[in-house]
Amino acid sequence: MRFILFISLLLIGKAGIAQTYEQVKKRFDKYLNYKGGLDKYVDISPEQITLYEYKTGKKETELVLSKNEWSSFVTLCKKLSPDSMQKIYEKKKAKGSSYRIEHGAPDKMLCSIPGKPLCEKKIMIDPGHMAGTMQMARIEQKYLHFSQQNCPNLKLDSLDIAEGILTFQTASILKKMLEEKGVTVALTRKENATSFGCTYEEWIKNHKKRTLDSLLKIKKIVAQKHKWLMKMNKGKFFVEFFKDFELLQRSRVINTFKPDLTVIIHYNVDEKNVPWEKPSNKDLCMAFIPGCVLNDNLETTAGKINFLRLLLSDDVDKSEKVSGLLVEELSKNLDVPIAKSSDATYLNEHCTATSSAGVFCRNLALCRLVQSPLMYGECLYQDHETECYELLKNTENKYGVQTNKRVVLAAESFYNAIIRNFTP
Ligand SMILES: [Zn+2]
Repeated sequence: MRFILFISLLLIGKAGIAQTYEQVKKRFDKYLNYKGGLDKYVDISPEQITLYEYKTGKKETELVLSKNEWSSFVTLCKKLSPDSMQKIYEKKKAKGSSYRIEHGAPDKMLCSIPGKPLCEKKIMIDPGHMAGTMQMARIEQKYLHFSQQNCPNLKLDSLDIAEGILTFQTASILKKMLEEKGVTVALTRKENATSFGCTYEEWIKNHKKRTLDSLLKIKKIVAQKHKWLMKMNKGKFFVEFFKDFELLQRSRVINTFKPDLTVIIHYNVDEKNVPWEKPSNKDLCMAFIPGCVLNDNLETTAGKINFLRLLLSDDVDKSEKVSGLLVEELSKNLDVPIAKSSDATYLNEHCTATSSAGVFCRNLALCRLVQSPLMYGECLYQDHETECYELLKNTENKYGVQTNKRVVLAAESFYNAIIRNFTP
């Protein structure tokens, strides 16, 4: 029996975008299909998209999505919970029966205030990482520590920078700037906290055992791994388990908010300056957008749904546009050069350059999981020989946030890019 989706009310939603074959094919070739790695797994024709699997060693059809289902699929992805979407996918895969999809409550109508043109927008800001102290920055391994011992030319006895503090300050300033324009803004985390709404220490104390026990119960981890993780100290546990687990939670927090745009804030380092004990002479800005999907990402149902959403929505196209504006603003305001593919191994080997300068497709967890257009900005290199001193200063107070000029300029760059993006 023909499979029918009853989605009349869902089509009212903002995500129901008609997609032509040409748009979808171009998106696949330009952003998603990194070095042809998905050729065996995905076929796109003017009539349908077919996903293939090779579980038995033979090529088998996993799912067929005909052209007239493309738009509704995206709408459903953005409206429904991941669990509901997985059920739809499994039913679609099994074929045979028709069913009705209950729609959720309609989106809340936002305000319309004269002089506040962005008041209907919802923006989620993700301050990268979580440290609000050097102690936590060391646990999450997102810190710089320069000392005269390692670096005799250092102008100070020692110098410490935590990326999570810089990103939180930037996010806090940007939030206030956008709120003044009437934008509804939320942050994925509080100061020195995880996206679970508590500090890492509190999570370890109150939630580690319970979480691992429930993962064991639903067979997401085996008994041996459970035992191994339970015994682990908090530094190792962060790297082995918590870092990725927390990113999943971040994506849930973001997607629950249903933003029009997600802003992910990071500060970079020179990868060749490892182990970051002395300043570097490189300073660059760049931004990441979704893309470069690997066949490994298509192993689970959730992964396939994410891929289809990226393929069938214009989130990636919109991400490139706003990220291109961001890189322009960062470079102009901070006077930092724009990164090229040849500037870093990860850009050259794992990313695709787009036609917007400094904007690269990168297969990062948040790039795959966030269900909105996004700008993932890497503002500057913290370990640069002048930046590292500038980032230590505490001379500026913006909206009650005590910080340095570089952070204020970074926040203004995000703000300008957002305003330009949403202003016709
Ligand atoms: Zn970072």
